[in-house]
Amino acid sequence: METIAAISTAPGLGGIGIIRITGDKAFEILLKMFKSTKVKKIEDIVPNTIIYGKIYDDSRMVDEVLVSFFKSPNSYTKEDLVEINTHGGSIVMKEILDLVLRNGTILAQPGEFTKRAFLNGRIDLTKVESIATILNAKSEEELRISGELLQGKLYNKVVNIKEKLMDILMHLEVNIDYPEYDTEEKDKEEIVETISKILSELKKFESTFDVGSKIKDGIKVSIIGRPNAGKSSLLNNLLNKERAIVTEIEGTTRDSIEEDLNINGINIKIIDTAGIRETDEKVEKIGIERAITIAEKSDLIIAIFDISKPFNENDRKILDIISKKESLILLNKYDLVEDIELPEEIKNTGKEYIYTSMLEKKGTEDVIEWITKKTESLKINKNNDIIIIHERQKKVITDVIEMIEQILKDLEIIPIDMVSENIRDVINKINELTGENVKEEVLNEIFKNFCLGK
Ligand code: GDP
Repeated sequence: METIAAISTAPGLGGIGIIRITGDKAFEILLKMFKSTKVKKIEDIVPNTIIYGKIYDDSRMVDEVLVSFFKSPNSYTKEDLVEINTHGGSIVMKEILDLVLRNGTILAQPGEFTKRAFLNGRIDLTKVESIATILNAKSEEELRISGELLQGKLYNKVVNIKEKLMDILMHLEVNIDYPEYDTEEKDKEEIVETISKILSELKKFESTFDVGSKIKDGIKVSIIGRPNAGKSSLLNNLLNKERAIVTEIEGTTRDSIEEDLNINGINIKIIDTAGIRETDEKVEKIGIERAITIAEKSDLIIAIFDISKPFNENDRKILDIISKKESLILLNKYDLVEDIELPEEIKNTGKEYIYTSMLEKKGTEDVIEWITKKTESLKINKNNDIIIIHERQKKVITDVIEMIEQILKDLEIIPIDMVSENIRDVINKINELTGENVKEEVLNEIFKNFCLGK
């Protein structure tokens, strides 16, 4: 494989910058431009050390650097790898990268270092995917689950399941070759039992995806209410910044605004929607329809009412939307009213409600507390169980479950040796999880989401 290089630190100014080189010629190429008292030739390199020196472009000194040396196979990519720690200016990093490229490396594709780690057998695909989620994690909980996967928890389970299936397969094949050893009935019972256990284990993994996908993609919480009820003010209070435009003119949020919020270690996607009211205005109408759809699709709804105004048809519509969903009612503009008479309709919903004044920022903490309470159950990872958060993995598991269910069904009517091909298919399918049997497009799709230099 070619020797590749890239800047691995984030673009922009930083304390240090790192340029990574990996491949057979990594050391040789570095030494063309690196001068130090300790390392003058390849033989001087001691793996896992950091050496001080200077990078030269011909006779011009470009930067003072520290270089980390990793010798194959003990590196991120399993190849010879160096990391040049430069001063973190974008020009100096670019100059050194250019120098490295000119001396015989090619620019790495996004995720190519990790791809090499995978292709060289250092990590399997479940670990690759967990690195991707560690890089992009939006919440502590997602990070925690990804960390478990990076330790190889899912990988080990998959290997274990595969070994059991291989045992069955070998056993069946021996029986085909030496039919005199036939012990069919007893075998069948044992094999059915083993396969059933595998099935229930896989079903357990599959069932965690409900929670896993929510942790990865975020919990959707929509804010609905009639125009001017205080939706944007609530969003701003939650975000603690002026994101949504707050005005006195009705209908200013004509479309939805979505923001990420981290509440209690969980990623919350908070969506401020268009105010719901009767209107003939075309654009507004579309916004309202969209608001209703968003609310119906979200995990939680916060319905906000302006209690300084009489309860009306629009409010009734909102109660209708929240009736079937987990929701919290905010009785907003509390500061404007003296005697509060809670409308019967709201009382009858049986839903939790709180009095708020978004203008005076009162009640925001209660909203956060409610979201925390409602999402607490997602933190099921207390036992550090495996949680499936990647859709690709979930799909493979679902396919395997279907295949195994079919085998068990078949076994009720056909002899055990007739399912060996199907068991082999299951093993091949399971191999997709760890990446031993995976299509190029799938790999490209996974590595596409990595950044340059990773
Ligand atoms: P939206 O249309 O539902 O997003 O409502 P906004 O958040 O844009 O608020 C509409 C108007 O009501 C703005 O002038 C806000 O300052 C005001 N407002 C929002 N919440 C309160 C509140 O609790 N009390 C009072 N007095 N005014 C509020």
